[in-house]
Amino acid sequence: MRPGFRPLARASLIIALAAFTSSSPAAPRDAKEKALVQHVTAGEKAHIELLEQLVNVNSGTMNLAGVRQVGDLLRPRFEALGFKVTWVDGTPFKRAGHLIATRPGRGQHVLLIGHMDTVFEPNHPFQRWQRVDENIARGPGAADDKGGIVVALAALDALRQAKLLDSLQITVVLHGDEEDSGAPLALARHDLIEAAKAADIAIGLENAADNPKTAVTARRSSTGWVVKVTAKSSHSSQIFSDNVGAGAAYELGRILNGFYQEVRGEEFVTFNPGLIASSTQVDFKGQPLSATLSGKNNIVAPTAIASGDLRTLTVQQLEETRAKMRKVVAASLPQTSAEIEFTDNYPPMAPTEGNRKLLSLYDGVSKDLGFGPVTEVNPRNAGAADISFAADHVDMALDGLGLLGGGAHTPDEFADLRTYQIQTQRLAVLLYRLGRR
Ligand SMILES: [Zn+2]
Repeated sequence: MRPGFRPLARASLIIALAAFTSSSPAAPRDAKEKALVQHVTAGEKAHIELLEQLVNVNSGTMNLAGVRQVGDLLRPRFEALGFKVTWVDGTPFKRAGHLIATRPGRGQHVLLIGHMDTVFEPNHPFQRWQRVDENIARGPGAADDKGGIVVALAALDALRQAKLLDSLQITVVLHGDEEDSGAPLALARHDLIEAAKAADIAIGLENAADNPKTAVTARRSSTGWVVKVTAKSSHSSQIFSDNVGAGAAYELGRILNGFYQEVRGEEFVTFNPGLIASSTQVDFKGQPLSATLSGKNNIVAPTAIASGDLRTLTVQQLEETRAKMRKVVAASLPQTSAEIEFTDNYPPMAPTEGNRKLLSLYDGVSKDLGFGPVTEVNPRNAGAADISFAADHVDMALDGLGLLGGGAHTPDEFADLRTYQIQTQRLAVLLYRLGRR
């Protein structure tokens, strides 16, 4: 998952879990659901051992061999469940690739989405699984997102053991570049989008918001913008004159202040300048984001640049905000001009009725299993993630059904193993009920 969410601190997660796990007695609806719960319970040890194995294989996004090695570990697991596994070569988009597992079936077509890569490259000190105590295991990707993959495998395994897997068509897409998507993005996300077009329902295995009482019905987009200002340069003593005008620095200041004063305000719309630079010489780089500059106080800066992100909840908000930003950019100060360029990255996942329908099904499963109600995460706290590429192509989408923990993207990342039963039982029974619809 990408930055933008606020993970619960470990202490508050533990308190939440303590209150959560004993909310009400379990009441699986029928014998099949009871059987699923038993299979999940019986399979925990073996699946946690698999998680440890996966975590101990470094799969930083740019460690292409490591990501493929994780895929090699997972392939036989899916094949044993009757899935046909293919590996999408990532060379065309400069990444390791994706694992796609498909399994035909009678009912609705469910797409499960996760990722094999982590933010921890081989040179990072945080490399190994470490069992802190019976409940907590630390490790790179323990929750984000290898834990999610294991929850899906365990739920599918329970359905297979209960002879219920044929009631659904299932496609599993596990990306090898979620944390740092390949380029061109359209190529890197092509297979997921095609799989979503063929599916009815999309389920994300992220550990969103790390709170078992919530799931994700909406995610904000993650897009970019760059403002480039050009102005007249001269000796500084002539700034403000009719001939020289305001200079690039003031013009950029005006534009950023205009964004803050005139564009800011709508709920779920944020735009952050990650870099601003102005001087006589400006050497700007978009990837990795940087600028080298030099100048003199007695020279009016002819160049100014700002780069930032823009996050919205819907495509309409995105277009309207871009229009407002363009309007601000166009109102140039004397003897200056500016242009703004927008880049698409992760689209928004709007909070549709279909997504809320799937949440209510999941909430029903959770209550019946004795795990209490589930509500939607505030999209302000849900970063961008791959499900956003699928959400527009399916009837219902929901994310955050993976293993929970905390400290994602930090050397303190941990998985709370008590959520293994909660998340795996809920996913297994949800899939079973979807197979009966
Ligand atoms: Zn993730």
